[in-house]
Amino acid sequence: MAKISLSNLRHSYMPDPTGPEDYALKKIDLDWQNGGAYALLGPSGCGKSTLLNIISGLLHPSEGRILFDDRDVTDLPPDQRNIAQVFQFPVIYDTMTVRENLAFPLRNRGVAEAKIAERVAEIAAMLEVEGMLDIRAAHLSPDNKQKISMGRGLVRDDVNVIMFDEPLTVIDPHLKWKLRSKLKELHQRVKATMIYVTHDQTEALTFADQVVVMQDGEIVQIGSPVELFERPQHTFVGHFIGSPGMNILPATQEEGQVLFNGQPVALEGAVTGEGGTTELGIRPEFVALADDGVPARVRKVSDVGRHAVVDAMVGDTPVKAVVDHVDVEQGAEVHLAFRPDQTRLYRDGWIATEAAHAK
Ligand code: ADP
Ligand code: MG
Repeated sequence: MAKISLSNLRHSYMPDPTGPEDYALKKIDLDWQNGGAYALLGPSGCGKSTLLNIISGLLHPSEGRILFDDRDVTDLPPDQRNIAQVFQFPVIYDTMTVRENLAFPLRNRGVAEAKIAERVAEIAAMLEVEGMLDIRAAHLSPDNKQKISMGRGLVRDDVNVIMFDEPLTVIDPHLKWKLRSKLKELHQRVKATMIYVTHDQTEALTFADQVVVMQDGEIVQIGSPVELFERPQHTFVGHFIGSPGMNILPATQEEGQVLFNGQPVALEGAVTGEGGTTELGIRPEFVALADDGVPARVRKVSDVGRHAVVDAMVGDTPVKAVVDHVDVEQGAEVHLAFRPDQTRLYRDGWIATEAAHAK
């Protein structure tokens, strides 16, 4: 296993890139610690696979270096990087049995047969595919093919990193949650550095200790699931993570006060910087229906199991609140209270308040 560092990485698929818009990766600097469980999260097209393929050596970056334990591997081909990669769609040999497929990465590296048998049995048990070991892979369902593909990625215990590129895409929804928790468990057991790429926040947040959020070829925030939820550094993260996402509300700044809908709002801490477009960010979980606060009209109430989502309008601005129980109906006039320590100011998308002091 190794620490992975990406330094000044840029990549364009064009022969003569000019502006930033020509780059699939704009400028990436990142350290992945040995043994960590990481997710790379972002919408489709933001550059996740490009980044992964640069780490594995399938792509050579236009600029920058890749280091494994401080050793420069930028110019090494994939087979010399000692990496396991699991792709979106199964990569297995149809003519081989499941057992032969799982054994292949080990046999390929001359591992002793006794050790191979042991590892294959172990991986098959983890993935619950023991009953299929002697079936030819061609006869498997797409779900099972992908499971075996994952097994091939996990079978070696000497790789620098195991990378998964949206591996659950072809898996049935009911199996998804099972494999998701299984992967987490596997990471705890094998302690390998794992990088899990997905556009699905639930997958990222359940798997990873650290989540790298990407947008448009750039990293917007790196943090634990709690950090991303609690203090998004950018409105994109606030909006992308959480269900429903963070309320992002138009705000104005006047003589040291921040106003929403003409009313002063208490923030988590002092405002930093000036100018630009200012917005308030507050998660629906920290908006309450109260006796006083911002006047609003209820547009919709949705029961989502353990709590309810109240969809309200403050003037022309929609604001969501997540509450335990509600006794209001559509059309009701209410007041919304924002929890000050959870109310943040964003300037041109980036956080512009100092964090409240921890008590
Ligand atoms: P993601 O995996 O996050 O969906 P990708 O890394 O596949 O994103 O793509 C990032 C950007 O690079 C997209 O705009 C995509 O269209 C472009 N791209 C990806 N692969 C190629 C390629 N082989 N040639 C040209 N452009 C590509
Ligand atoms: Mg991709």
